[in-house]
Amino acid sequence: MSPDAVGGYPSKRTLALQIEHNRSARGLAGMIFTRNDRAGEGKLSSRLGLVTDAVEVADDQDLYAYLVDHLSKGRRADYVIADEAQFLAPGQIDQLARVVDDLGLDVYAFGITTDFRSKLFPGSQRLVELADRIEVLQVEALCWCGARATHNARTIGGQMVVEGAQVVVGDVNQAAGEVGYEVLCRRHHRRRMTAASARAAALSPDVLPVSSG
Ligand SMILES: [Zn+2]
Repeated sequence: MSPDAVGGYPSKRTLALQIEHNRSARGLAGMIFTRNDRAGEGKLSSRLGLVTDAVEVADDQDLYAYLVDHLSKGRRADYVIADEAQFLAPGQIDQLARVVDDLGLDVYAFGITTDFRSKLFPGSQRLVELADRIEVLQVEALCWCGARATHNARTIGGQMVVEGAQVVVGDVNQAAGEVGYEVLCRRHHRRRMTAASARAAALSPDVLPVSSG
């Protein structure tokens, strides 16, 4: 699932990059973990086009051990960024908490909380359970109706679907028939009404306004 696809939450990406940029400008070295980044393995990307090297995390990778190994080789890591943290395993979130407690490094984890069925990702759930501080980023995206978009919908050919695997890579600009993602307000997520289906409904003869001469 690409970051934009997961919901058009550009502020999350931009903030991760800003934290990285501000600290590296001060001479600090960051360890950046990511998963399923659309810029390709081991890249942290954003719509702004900034791309920075990152470690693409494997399913069974021990992030604590990775950092201990990194530091024991005399390499630097002054802070940690975990991007797309919803895709990390719960155990990996525990490892990040241990990085904070035992290695004394700040860990900034970014991700979305819920999947296309509005259920918590396992990694996000563990993050909420363990985080010292949680900050809800202001969502800038709007539903097609103009309300604040808070829920991710998975679409196929523009129609919202509620079945399928929790993680499917898709795109917001998908071709017809392909898996895509669209952010909706909760009302329209509950009604499974995407922009395409709302448009189709508006064009239906049943709902055309009747002119009253
Ligand atoms: Zn709406």
